[in-house]
Amino acid sequence: MNATFDDLIKLVQEYNPSEVEVITKAHDYADYLHKGQVRQSGDAYITHPVNVAYILAEMQADADTICAGLLHDTLEDTNITKEDIVENFNKDVANLVDGVTKLAKMNFSSKEEHNLANTRKIITGITSDVRIIIIKLADRLHNMRTLQFKSEFKQKENALETMEIFVPLAYYIGAYRIKSELEDLSLRYLKPSMYQRIKERKLKLEEESDDCLQEMLFKIKAILNDSLVPNEIKVRTKNIYGIYKKLNNGERIADIHDLFSLKIMVQEVEECYKTLYLVHKLYHPINDKFKDYICNPKTNMYQSLHTTVFGPQERLVQTQIRTFDMDLVASFGLTAYWAINKGDARNIMQDDLKNKYQFFKSLVDINSMFKDNQEFVRQVKSELFSDKIYVYTTKGEIMEMPKGSTPIDFAYKIHTDVGNTMISAMVNDEWVPFNYELKNKDRVKIITDDLSYGPRMEWEDIAFTSYAKKRIREFRGR
Ligand code: MN
Repeated sequence: MNATFDDLIKLVQEYNPSEVEVITKAHDYADYLHKGQVRQSGDAYITHPVNVAYILAEMQADADTICAGLLHDTLEDTNITKEDIVENFNKDVANLVDGVTKLAKMNFSSKEEHNLANTRKIITGITSDVRIIIIKLADRLHNMRTLQFKSEFKQKENALETMEIFVPLAYYIGAYRIKSELEDLSLRYLKPSMYQRIKERKLKLEEESDDCLQEMLFKIKAILNDSLVPNEIKVRTKNIYGIYKKLNNGERIADIHDLFSLKIMVQEVEECYKTLYLVHKLYHPINDKFKDYICNPKTNMYQSLHTTVFGPQERLVQTQIRTFDMDLVASFGLTAYWAINKGDARNIMQDDLKNKYQFFKSLVDINSMFKDNQEFVRQVKSELFSDKIYVYTTKGEIMEMPKGSTPIDFAYKIHTDVGNTMISAMVNDEWVPFNYELKNKDRVKIITDDLSYGPRMEWEDIAFTSYAKKRIREFRGR
Protein backbone atom coordinates (compact mmCIF):
# COMPACT_ATOMS: atom_id res chain seq x y z
CA MET A 1 0.00 0.00 0.00
CA ASN A 2 1.01 3.56 -0.59
CA ALA A 3 -0.15 5.96 2.09
CA THR A 4 -0.77 9.62 1.35
CA PHE A 5 -0.37 12.55 3.71
CA ASP A 6 -4.17 12.55 4.15
CA ASP A 7 -4.05 8.90 5.24
CA LEU A 8 -1.37 9.79 7.76
CA ILE A 9 -3.37 12.67 9.21
CA LYS A 10 -6.49 10.54 9.41
CA LEU A 11 -4.59 7.90 11.35
CA VAL A 12 -2.99 10.39 13.77
CA GLN A 13 -6.37 12.04 14.29
CA GLU A 14 -7.63 8.75 15.71
CA TYR A 15 -5.15 8.49 18.56
CA ASN A 16 -3.47 11.86 18.96
CA PRO A 17 -5.61 14.67 17.49
CA SER A 18 -3.80 17.42 19.39
CA GLU A 19 -0.55 16.74 17.50
CA VAL A 20 -1.95 17.01 13.98
CA GLU A 21 -0.72 20.58 13.70
CA VAL A 22 2.96 19.96 14.45
CA ILE A 23 2.95 16.87 12.22
CA THR A 24 1.49 18.92 9.37
CA LYS A 25 4.27 21.44 9.94
CA ALA A 26 6.92 18.70 9.75
CA HIS A 27 5.38 17.40 6.54
CA ASP A 28 5.26 20.81 4.87
CA TYR A 29 8.86 21.47 5.90
CA ALA A 30 10.09 18.11 4.54
CA ASP A 31 8.02 18.57 1.39
CA TYR A 32 9.62 21.97 0.80
CA LEU A 33 13.17 20.66 1.48
CA HIS A 34 12.85 17.60 -0.78
CA LYS A 35 11.17 19.60 -3.56
CA GLY A 36 12.36 18.41 -6.99
CA GLN A 37 13.84 15.16 -5.66
CA VAL A 38 12.40 12.04 -7.24
CA ARG A 39 12.54 8.40 -6.16
CA GLN A 40 13.56 5.67 -8.59
CA SER A 41 9.88 4.70 -8.82
CA GLY A 42 9.21 8.14 -10.36
CA ASP A 43 7.27 9.25 -7.27
CA ALA A 44 8.09 12.55 -5.57
CA TYR A 45 10.63 11.95 -2.80
CA ILE A 46 8.23 13.10 -0.06
CA THR A 47 6.15 9.93 -0.58
CA HIS A 48 8.93 8.00 1.17
CA PRO A 49 9.04 9.97 4.47
CA VAL A 50 5.22 10.12 4.47
CA ASN A 51 5.05 6.33 4.28
CA VAL A 52 7.71 5.94 6.96
CA ALA A 53 5.67 8.24 9.21
CA TYR A 54 2.56 6.22 8.37
CA ILE A 55 4.21 2.96 9.47
CA LEU A 56 5.13 4.69 12.74
CA ALA A 57 1.60 6.03 13.18
CA GLU A 58 0.30 2.46 12.82
CA MET A 59 2.22 1.79 16.05
CA GLN A 60 0.63 4.92 17.55
CA ALA A 61 4.02 6.59 17.83
CA ASP A 62 4.32 9.91 19.65
CA ALA A 63 4.47 13.23 17.79
CA ASP A 64 8.28 13.62 18.06
CA THR A 65 8.75 10.22 16.42
CA ILE A 66 6.28 10.95 13.60
CA CYS A 67 7.95 14.33 12.94
CA ALA A 68 11.37 12.66 12.92
CA GLY A 69 9.99 10.05 10.51
CA LEU A 70 8.89 12.83 8.16
CA LEU A 71 12.25 14.60 8.47
CA HIS A 72 14.47 11.51 8.61
CA ASP A 73 16.23 12.07 5.26
CA THR A 74 16.56 15.86 5.41
CA LEU A 75 19.98 15.97 7.12
CA GLU A 76 21.41 13.57 4.57
CA ASP A 77 19.73 14.77 1.37
CA THR A 78 19.01 18.49 1.85
CA ASN A 79 20.85 21.56 3.02
CA ILE A 80 19.60 21.93 6.56
CA THR A 81 21.49 21.25 9.80
CA LYS A 82 20.61 19.64 13.09
CA GLU A 83 20.33 23.12 14.61
CA ASP A 84 17.66 24.05 12.07
CA ILE A 85 15.57 21.14 13.28
CA VAL A 86 16.10 22.11 16.93
CA GLU A 87 14.91 25.62 16.12
CA ASN A 88 11.87 24.60 14.10
CA PHE A 89 10.86 21.65 16.27
CA ASN A 90 12.80 20.56 19.34
CA LYS A 91 15.96 18.83 20.53
CA ASP A 92 14.37 15.38 20.70
CA VAL A 93 13.23 15.47 17.08
CA ALA A 94 16.68 16.71 16.03
CA ASN A 95 18.45 13.94 17.96
CA LEU A 96 16.18 11.30 16.46
CA VAL A 97 16.80 12.50 12.89
CA ASP A 98 20.52 12.71 13.59
CA GLY A 99 20.56 9.20 15.10
CA VAL A 100 18.73 7.70 12.12
CA THR A 101 21.07 9.48 9.68
CA LYS A 102 24.12 8.07 11.45
CA LEU A 103 22.66 4.59 11.64
CA ALA A 104 22.60 4.53 7.84
CA LYS A 105 26.36 4.94 7.81
CA MET A 106 26.99 2.00 10.07
CA ASN A 107 29.32 -0.48 8.49
CA PHE A 108 29.96 -3.84 10.11
CA SER A 109 32.58 -5.09 7.72
CA SER A 110 34.94 -2.12 7.50
CA LYS A 111 38.31 -2.50 9.19
CA GLU A 112 39.23 1.17 9.11
CA GLU A 113 39.59 2.78 12.51
CA HIS A 114 37.37 5.80 11.87
CA ASN A 115 34.60 3.52 10.56
CA LEU A 116 34.92 1.27 13.57
CA ALA A 117 34.80 4.20 15.97
CA ASN A 118 31.78 5.53 14.12
CA THR A 119 29.99 2.17 14.23
CA ARG A 120 30.59 2.01 17.95
CA LYS A 121 29.18 5.49 18.47
CA ILE A 122 26.10 4.59 16.49
CA ILE A 123 25.49 1.33 18.33
CA THR A 124 25.85 2.88 21.74
CA GLY A 125 23.72 5.83 20.58
CA ILE A 126 20.85 3.46 19.96
CA THR A 127 20.77 2.69 23.65
CA SER A 128 20.13 6.32 24.56
CA ASP A 129 16.84 6.40 22.67
CA VAL A 130 15.26 3.23 21.33
CA ARG A 131 13.02 5.29 19.03
CA ILE A 132 16.01 5.64 16.69
CA ILE A 133 15.83 1.90 15.96
CA ILE A 134 12.11 2.06 15.41
CA ILE A 135 12.31 4.92 12.89
CA LYS A 136 15.16 3.14 11.13
CA LEU A 137 13.10 -0.07 10.95
CA ALA A 138 10.16 1.84 9.46
CA ASP A 139 12.54 3.45 6.94
CA ARG A 140 13.97 0.08 5.95
CA LEU A 141 10.53 -1.49 5.73
CA HIS A 142 9.32 1.11 3.25
CA ASN A 143 12.53 0.87 1.23
CA MET A 144 12.14 -2.92 1.07
CA ARG A 145 8.50 -2.56 0.03
CA THR A 146 9.60 -0.40 -2.91
CA LEU A 147 12.73 -2.35 -3.81
CA GLN A 148 11.43 -3.42 -7.23
CA PHE A 149 12.63 -0.12 -8.68
CA LYS A 150 16.29 -0.74 -7.81
CA SER A 151 18.93 -2.65 -9.78
CA GLU A 152 19.22 -6.37 -9.14
CA PHE A 153 22.56 -5.88 -7.42
CA LYS A 154 21.11 -3.25 -5.06
CA GLN A 155 18.11 -5.48 -4.37
CA LYS A 156 20.29 -8.38 -3.25
CA GLU A 157 22.62 -6.13 -1.30
CA ASN A 158 19.75 -4.47 0.58
CA ALA A 159 18.03 -7.79 1.21
CA LEU A 160 21.20 -9.28 2.68
CA GLU A 161 21.80 -6.27 4.89
CA THR A 162 18.18 -6.42 6.03
CA MET A 163 18.59 -10.06 7.07
CA GLU A 164 21.92 -9.38 8.75
CA ILE A 165 21.10 -6.25 10.73
CA PHE A 166 17.46 -5.18 10.66
CA VAL A 167 15.71 -8.51 11.16
CA PRO A 168 17.74 -9.16 14.34
CA LEU A 169 17.03 -5.62 15.56
CA ALA A 170 13.29 -6.07 14.97
CA TYR A 171 13.49 -9.38 16.84
CA TYR A 172 15.38 -7.86 19.77
CA ILE A 173 12.71 -5.27 20.41
CA GLY A 174 10.01 -7.89 19.74
CA ALA A 175 8.48 -6.17 16.69
CA TYR A 176 7.31 -9.38 15.01
CA ARG A 177 5.03 -7.76 12.47
CA ILE A 178 7.93 -5.76 11.02
CA LYS A 179 10.33 -8.67 11.39
CA SER A 180 8.23 -11.12 9.40
CA GLU A 181 7.50 -8.64 6.62
CA LEU A 182 11.21 -7.78 6.34
CA GLU A 183 12.07 -11.49 6.17
CA ASP A 184 9.58 -12.18 3.39
CA LEU A 185 10.64 -9.14 1.38
CA SER A 186 14.30 -10.17 1.70
CA LEU A 187 13.64 -13.74 0.62
CA ARG A 188 11.66 -12.46 -2.35
CA TYR A 189 14.82 -10.81 -3.71
CA LEU A 190 17.41 -13.29 -2.48
CA LYS A 191 15.65 -16.45 -3.72
CA PRO A 192 12.90 -15.28 -6.10
CA SER A 193 11.84 -18.66 -7.50
CA MET A 194 11.85 -20.32 -4.09
CA TYR A 195 9.82 -17.42 -2.74
CA GLN A 196 7.21 -17.76 -5.50
CA ARG A 197 6.97 -21.54 -5.06
CA ILE A 198 6.37 -21.32 -1.33
CA LYS A 199 3.95 -18.44 -1.76
CA GLU A 200 1.78 -20.40 -4.19
CA ARG A 201 1.91 -23.53 -2.05
CA LYS A 202 0.96 -21.52 1.00
CA LEU A 203 -2.01 -19.95 -0.77
CA LYS A 204 -3.23 -23.35 -1.88
CA LEU A 205 -2.91 -24.82 1.61
CA GLU A 206 -4.71 -21.81 3.05
CA GLU A 207 -7.64 -22.46 0.72
CA GLU A 208 -7.69 -26.17 1.51
CA SER A 209 -7.58 -25.55 5.27
CA ASP A 210 -10.05 -22.73 5.41
CA ASP A 211 -13.08 -24.89 6.29
CA CYS A 212 -11.19 -26.63 9.05
CA LEU A 213 -9.88 -23.39 10.54
CA GLN A 214 -13.25 -21.65 10.36
CA GLU A 215 -14.89 -24.62 12.05
CA MET A 216 -12.35 -24.52 14.88
CA LEU A 217 -12.67 -20.77 15.22
CA PHE A 218 -16.42 -21.08 15.42
CA LYS A 219 -16.37 -23.85 18.03
CA ILE A 220 -13.76 -22.18 20.23
CA LYS A 221 -15.63 -18.91 20.03
CA ALA A 222 -18.84 -20.62 21.08
CA ILE A 223 -17.30 -22.35 24.08
CA LEU A 224 -15.59 -19.11 25.20
CA ASN A 225 -18.80 -17.15 24.84
CA ASP A 226 -20.67 -19.81 26.83
CA SER A 227 -18.03 -19.48 29.54
CA LEU A 228 -18.38 -15.68 29.48
CA VAL A 229 -14.82 -15.03 28.34
CA PRO A 230 -14.78 -11.96 26.04
CA ASN A 231 -12.52 -12.77 23.11
CA GLU A 232 -11.37 -12.13 19.59
CA ILE A 233 -9.96 -14.88 17.35
CA LYS A 234 -7.89 -14.53 14.18
CA VAL A 235 -6.42 -16.99 11.72
CA ARG A 236 -2.76 -16.59 10.80
CA THR A 237 -0.37 -18.51 8.55
CA LYS A 238 3.36 -18.70 9.13
CA ASN A 239 5.27 -16.19 7.00
CA ILE A 240 6.98 -17.37 3.82
CA TYR A 241 10.47 -17.06 5.26
CA GLY A 242 9.40 -19.08 8.33
CA ILE A 243 8.17 -21.86 6.04
CA TYR A 244 11.36 -21.62 3.97
CA LYS A 245 13.48 -22.13 7.10
CA LYS A 246 11.51 -25.25 8.09
CA LEU A 247 11.77 -26.69 4.59
CA ASN A 248 15.49 -26.03 4.71
CA ASN A 249 15.66 -28.14 7.87
CA GLY A 250 14.18 -31.04 5.93
CA GLU A 251 10.58 -30.74 7.12
CA ARG A 252 7.69 -31.28 4.71
CA ILE A 253 5.34 -28.32 4.44
CA ALA A 254 2.35 -30.41 5.53
CA ASP A 255 4.19 -31.48 8.69
CA ILE A 256 4.93 -27.99 9.98
CA HIS A 257 3.02 -28.00 13.25
CA ASP A 258 2.51 -24.26 13.41
CA LEU A 259 1.88 -23.59 9.72
CA PHE A 260 -1.60 -22.42 10.72
CA SER A 261 -2.42 -20.72 13.96
CA LEU A 262 -5.52 -19.47 15.63
CA LYS A 263 -4.71 -16.38 17.62
CA ILE A 264 -7.08 -16.15 20.56
CA MET A 265 -7.09 -12.86 22.43
CA VAL A 266 -8.77 -12.35 25.80
CA GLN A 267 -8.83 -9.61 28.46
CA GLU A 268 -7.18 -11.10 31.52
CA VAL A 269 -4.14 -13.31 32.13
CA GLU A 270 -6.25 -15.81 34.12
CA GLU A 271 -8.58 -16.13 31.15
CA CYS A 272 -5.64 -17.28 29.00
CA TYR A 273 -5.27 -20.38 31.15
CA LYS A 274 -9.01 -20.94 31.29
CA THR A 275 -9.08 -20.69 27.49
CA LEU A 276 -6.25 -23.18 27.26
CA TYR A 277 -8.29 -25.69 29.23
CA LEU A 278 -11.35 -25.14 27.07
CA VAL A 279 -9.34 -25.54 23.85
CA HIS A 280 -7.78 -28.75 25.15
CA LYS A 281 -11.22 -30.01 26.09
CA LEU A 282 -12.35 -29.53 22.49
CA TYR A 283 -9.19 -30.75 20.74
CA HIS A 284 -6.47 -33.10 21.91
CA PRO A 285 -3.15 -31.32 22.43
CA ILE A 286 0.25 -32.66 21.38
CA ASN A 287 1.81 -32.71 24.80
CA ASP A 288 5.34 -31.71 23.95
CA LYS A 289 4.29 -28.78 21.76
CA PHE A 290 2.85 -26.80 24.66
CA LYS A 291 4.72 -23.64 25.63
CA ASP A 292 4.03 -21.16 28.41
CA TYR A 293 5.61 -17.90 27.31
CA ILE A 294 3.41 -16.02 29.77
CA CYS A 295 5.22 -17.18 32.89
CA ASN A 296 8.41 -17.72 30.84
CA PRO A 297 8.53 -14.76 28.43
CA LYS A 298 10.98 -14.81 25.52
CA THR A 299 14.10 -12.67 25.92
CA ASN A 300 12.38 -9.99 23.82
CA MET A 301 9.39 -10.04 26.20
CA TYR A 302 7.03 -11.90 23.86
CA GLN A 303 4.26 -13.45 25.94
CA SER A 304 1.68 -16.03 24.89
CA LEU A 305 0.55 -19.61 25.44
CA HIS A 306 1.24 -21.90 22.48
CA THR A 307 -0.41 -25.24 22.09
CA THR A 308 -0.69 -27.40 19.01
CA VAL A 309 -3.82 -29.53 18.78
CA PHE A 310 -5.29 -32.20 16.53
CA GLY A 311 -7.84 -30.19 14.59
CA PRO A 312 -10.60 -31.39 12.24
CA GLN A 313 -9.61 -33.39 9.10
CA GLU A 314 -6.48 -34.69 10.82
CA ARG A 315 -4.89 -31.30 10.60
CA LEU A 316 -2.46 -29.97 13.18
CA VAL A 317 -3.30 -26.43 14.22
CA GLN A 318 -1.42 -24.24 16.64
CA THR A 319 -3.37 -21.99 18.95
CA GLN A 320 -1.77 -18.91 20.47
CA ILE A 321 -3.59 -17.63 23.51
CA ARG A 322 -2.81 -14.21 24.97
CA THR A 323 -4.28 -10.98 26.30
CA PHE A 324 -4.97 -8.03 23.99
CA ASP A 325 -2.03 -6.13 25.54
CA MET A 326 0.30 -9.08 25.02
CA ASP A 327 -0.85 -9.18 21.42
CA LEU A 328 0.09 -5.53 20.92
CA VAL A 329 3.56 -6.29 22.28
CA ALA A 330 3.81 -9.34 20.01
CA SER A 331 3.07 -7.24 16.94
CA PHE A 332 4.96 -4.06 17.70
CA GLY A 333 7.35 -5.11 20.46
CA LEU A 334 8.62 -2.44 22.75
CA THR A 335 6.77 0.15 20.68
CA ALA A 336 3.42 -1.25 21.80
CA TYR A 337 3.97 0.84 24.92
CA TRP A 338 2.85 3.80 22.89
CA ALA A 339 -0.59 2.28 22.65
CA ILE A 340 -0.69 0.77 26.14
CA ASN A 341 0.98 3.40 28.33
CA LYS A 342 -0.27 6.68 26.98
CA GLY A 343 1.73 9.70 28.05
CA ASP A 344 4.76 8.23 29.72
CA ALA A 345 5.49 5.60 27.06
CA ARG A 346 8.90 7.01 26.21
CA ASN A 347 10.33 6.60 29.73
CA ILE A 348 8.71 3.24 30.35
CA MET A 349 10.12 1.98 27.03
CA GLN A 350 13.61 3.14 27.89
CA ASP A 351 13.41 1.69 31.43
CA ASP A 352 12.08 -1.65 30.27
CA LEU A 353 14.75 -1.80 27.60
CA LYS A 354 17.38 -1.50 30.33
CA ASN A 355 15.84 -3.95 32.76
CA LYS A 356 14.13 -6.62 30.74
CA TYR A 357 15.57 -6.92 27.24
CA GLN A 358 18.68 -9.08 27.23
CA PHE A 359 20.15 -7.68 24.03
CA PHE A 360 20.37 -4.27 25.64
CA LYS A 361 22.21 -5.62 28.67
CA SER A 362 24.63 -7.47 26.41
CA LEU A 363 25.25 -4.28 24.45
CA VAL A 364 26.00 -2.28 27.60
CA ASP A 365 28.27 -5.10 28.88
CA ILE A 366 30.19 -5.32 25.64
CA ASN A 367 30.58 -1.56 25.53
CA SER A 368 32.08 -1.40 29.00
CA MET A 369 34.24 -4.47 28.38
CA PHE A 370 36.08 -3.64 25.18
CA LYS A 371 38.08 -0.47 24.88
CA ASP A 372 39.36 -1.41 21.43
CA ASN A 373 36.88 -0.42 18.69
CA GLN A 374 37.62 -3.34 16.42
CA GLU A 375 37.13 -5.83 19.24
CA PHE A 376 33.91 -4.07 20.23
CA VAL A 377 32.45 -4.27 16.73
CA ARG A 378 33.58 -7.88 16.28
CA GLN A 379 32.00 -8.82 19.57
CA VAL A 380 28.67 -7.11 18.83
CA LYS A 381 28.59 -8.87 15.49
CA SER A 382 29.35 -12.33 16.87
CA GLU A 383 27.17 -12.04 19.98
CA LEU A 384 24.18 -10.08 18.77
CA PHE A 385 24.05 -10.49 15.00
CA SER A 386 24.66 -14.20 14.61
CA ASP A 387 22.83 -17.47 15.29
CA LYS A 388 21.64 -17.80 18.83
CA ILE A 389 20.63 -20.52 21.23
CA TYR A 390 18.39 -20.30 24.29
CA VAL A 391 19.22 -22.20 27.46
CA TYR A 392 17.70 -22.35 30.93
CA THR A 393 19.30 -21.39 34.21
CA THR A 394 18.56 -23.62 37.22
CA LYS A 395 15.88 -21.07 38.19
CA GLY A 396 14.18 -21.57 34.83
CA GLU A 397 15.21 -18.21 33.41
CA ILE A 398 15.97 -18.17 29.71
CA MET A 399 19.43 -16.99 28.64
CA GLU A 400 20.28 -15.97 25.12
CA MET A 401 23.77 -17.07 24.00
CA PRO A 402 25.57 -17.07 20.66
CA LYS A 403 25.64 -20.48 18.98
CA GLY A 404 28.92 -22.19 19.87
CA SER A 405 28.82 -21.17 23.54
CA THR A 406 30.11 -23.54 26.23
CA PRO A 407 29.39 -23.85 29.98
CA ILE A 408 32.32 -21.49 30.53
CA ASP A 409 30.59 -18.77 28.49
CA PHE A 410 27.36 -19.43 30.35
CA ALA A 411 29.08 -19.15 33.75
CA TYR A 412 30.70 -15.83 32.87
CA LYS A 413 27.44 -14.53 31.46
CA ILE A 414 25.72 -15.23 34.79
CA HIS A 415 28.41 -13.46 36.76
CA THR A 416 32.19 -13.03 36.70
CA ASP A 417 32.44 -14.67 40.14
CA VAL A 418 30.52 -17.71 38.92
CA GLY A 419 32.97 -18.10 36.05
CA ASN A 420 35.98 -17.56 38.24
CA THR A 421 34.94 -20.16 40.86
CA MET A 422 33.45 -22.77 38.51
CA ILE A 423 34.69 -26.30 39.12
CA SER A 424 32.27 -28.34 37.01
CA ALA A 425 29.12 -28.13 34.92
CA MET A 426 25.93 -30.12 34.41
CA VAL A 427 23.56 -30.01 31.47
CA ASN A 428 20.12 -31.60 31.83
CA ASP A 429 21.33 -33.33 35.03
CA GLU A 430 24.37 -34.93 33.36
CA TRP A 431 28.00 -33.98 33.89
CA VAL A 432 29.51 -32.36 30.81
CA PRO A 433 33.06 -31.35 29.93
CA PHE A 434 33.81 -27.64 29.74
CA ASN A 435 34.10 -27.78 25.95
CA TYR A 436 30.52 -29.09 25.59
CA GLU A 437 28.62 -27.02 22.99
CA LEU A 438 25.37 -25.78 24.50
CA LYS A 439 22.17 -26.53 22.62
CA ASN A 440 18.70 -25.02 22.56
CA LYS A 441 16.66 -25.76 25.71
CA ASP A 442 19.61 -27.15 27.67
CA ARG A 443 19.26 -26.71 31.41
CA VAL A 444 22.64 -25.58 32.62
CA LYS A 445 23.94 -25.83 36.17
CA ILE A 446 27.33 -24.49 37.17
CA ILE A 447 28.99 -25.93 40.26
CA THR A 448 31.23 -23.43 42.02
CA ASP A 449 33.66 -23.62 44.91
CA ASP A 450 35.04 -20.50 46.57
CA LEU A 451 38.30 -22.37 47.12
CA SER A 452 38.75 -23.17 43.42
CA TYR A 453 42.01 -22.19 41.77
CA GLY A 454 40.13 -19.95 39.38
CA PRO A 455 39.91 -20.32 35.62
CA ARG A 456 42.55 -22.57 34.11
CA MET A 457 44.73 -21.45 31.25
CA GLU A 458 43.14 -23.70 28.62
CA TRP A 459 39.68 -22.21 29.32
CA GLU A 460 40.60 -19.20 27.26
CA ASP A 461 40.79 -21.40 24.15
CA ILE A 462 37.65 -23.35 25.02
CA ALA A 463 35.45 -20.31 25.67
CA PHE A 464 33.53 -19.10 22.62
CA THR A 465 32.62 -15.53 23.52
CA SER A 466 35.35 -12.94 23.69
CA TYR A 467 33.53 -11.72 26.78
CA ALA A 468 34.45 -14.88 28.71
CA LYS A 469 37.93 -14.99 27.18
CA LYS A 470 38.54 -11.46 28.35
CA ARG A 471 37.38 -12.19 31.91
CA ILE A 472 39.66 -15.22 32.03
CA ARG A 473 42.63 -13.16 30.84
CA GLU A 474 41.84 -10.51 33.43
CA PHE A 475 41.73 -13.05 36.22
CA ARG A 476 45.04 -14.48 35.14
CA GLY A 477 46.50 -11.00 35.26
CA ARG A 478 47.23 -10.57 31.59
MN1 MN B 1 14.84 6.97 4.17
